[in-house]
Amino acid sequence: MKVPVLESIFLNPSPVPQTRDFCRVLVLGGDESARELGERLKREGHEVLILGGKDRSEVSAGIALPPDTVLERVNGFVGGFEALLRSPFGHSTERVGFIVAAQPGENIPKYSDYGLVRSERVMSLSDLEAMLIAGEAPAQPRGEWIHVVFLCGLEGESDPLEFERVFDAIERLRKICLVQPHVFTRHVKVAAPGLERRYRQTREEGTLFFKFDGTGPVFEEGPEGLTMIFHDPVIGFDMEIVPDLLVVDERHLPPASLKPLLDAIPSAAATTPFLQPESTRFSGVRTLKAGILALGPSRGNFCAQGIRGDIEAAVVALKTGVIEEPQSWLPSAPTVDPAKCTTCLTCVRLCPHGAMSFQKRAEADSASCMRCGICAVECPMGAIKLEPVAGEADIPGKIKDGLALAHGTKKLVAFLCSRSAARAMESAGLKIRNNLTPIIVPCAGTVDPDHLLTAFREGADAVLVAGCHTGNCASLYGTILAGERSSRVRLFLEEAGINAKRLVFTTLASNTPGDFVRAVLDLEANIGE
Ligand code: SF4
Ligand code: SF4
Repeated sequence: MKVPVLESIFLNPSPVPQTRDFCRVLVLGGDESARELGERLKREGHEVLILGGKDRSEVSAGIALPPDTVLERVNGFVGGFEALLRSPFGHSTERVGFIVAAQPGENIPKYSDYGLVRSERVMSLSDLEAMLIAGEAPAQPRGEWIHVVFLCGLEGESDPLEFERVFDAIERLRKICLVQPHVFTRHVKVAAPGLERRYRQTREEGTLFFKFDGTGPVFEEGPEGLTMIFHDPVIGFDMEIVPDLLVVDERHLPPASLKPLLDAIPSAAATTPFLQPESTRFSGVRTLKAGILALGPSRGNFCAQGIRGDIEAAVVALKTGVIEEPQSWLPSAPTVDPAKCTTCLTCVRLCPHGAMSFQKRAEADSASCMRCGICAVECPMGAIKLEPVAGEADIPGKIKDGLALAHGTKKLVAFLCSRSAARAMESAGLKIRNNLTPIIVPCAGTVDPDHLLTAFREGADAVLVAGCHTGNCASLYGTILAGERSSRVRLFLEEAGINAKRLVFTTLASNTPGDFVRAVLDLEANIGE
């Protein structure tokens, strides 16, 4: 049957370039960070176009800065993006290799949340940072030592980047004055590279952390000034402190002009108001889509010092080509069988990396595809295929070969995400267990319900699916999809009269071999049941 192709499905036409041009860079943002990045990139030999600046004289000759021009849409992929621009003179298209979002965001101090007002002794974290960058120390109203109280995420989730800013501020304060820092928070969330170490170090150097699980502190004017009254949940007493300086955390609003870039990564827009998902897998300036970088507020980093680090990271990334190596054992992006494709666009919508496009047919861009396999499993027509490395079997073949060699009465098959569970297994040394057939997959999202049923059909007594912890998945929701698919197959097993506990889904971190061993032992025990 010939499927009619409607005009309306050309939602995100993404031309694949004949040749990729990695020298032209579009920088979005008119403030100092964007200009500094532009100058640095120019010195590195890039051709730079900055959108958002007002004054041509602010940048050196050779950097294009068209006035009153905004980005309306982005099509294409790394090395061959087509940026549709709008200016008072109409529309135009620029072809660039990379796009860097460097727009300023907005910090809203949470004074009113705590019933506070800005004063000499009450300021926002941004104000303190600006003061410290200018080399000024806080006033010392009561002797040599300054008691500085930081409020950091007292309601809702705390933010690792906010902690990083607080640790930076404490470090700078220590250099210029005698300071006793106190940090009041709900959760100490330090899930970012190096932050756990900095948290320990900050504590060892004398910073006091107070964690609330109920209502936070209240503030009253006392004889010595603003007094903070709180219940210490650890010792169980009501306490009072009169801070010399009270530093209030902030609510961060993303830059207003991120929409065209979020539109180019359909998966991201649903999960984050910023360009970078909140995950330790996306440290630095990477986003989900190859070739689109985010620095500073565009990625949720509002720390002045951190923004300078981001500029360095962006320069290095563009110098080294920035494209993350996809999983090396999958040689190519998936292929689409046009005879099976019904143009439903499921793959375009679901690809976490914005690597799928649709012109006359669905097609994955090889440089942008991270080989997560999500599109291949989710395509309702089974039209998408990921080829294994030449000479290697595909997943069903590996299951069959592994089970044929496995020994013991309890034959196990474990589908393991290469980034987490497979590394945990390597540390545990369980690859040498002769009743376990490990199938290492680029992402848990690659695991198809058919693969699970194939394992049982080929003689597995129990099957384990292990992906990254939710929020750590490099393909955003690969691990979530794997969990949902496992639940569906468990229902199917129950209907077929098979103990559903023979199929277990779990999440693991690469540095938790003990958890992996426990998961395997529990799975074996389930067979006994
Ligand atoms: S999900 Fe499958 S059927 Fe739908 S557009 Fe993509 S390839 Fe075609
Ligand atoms: S394998 Fe993953 S990254 Fe590649 S096109 Fe499919 S969904 Fe996108």
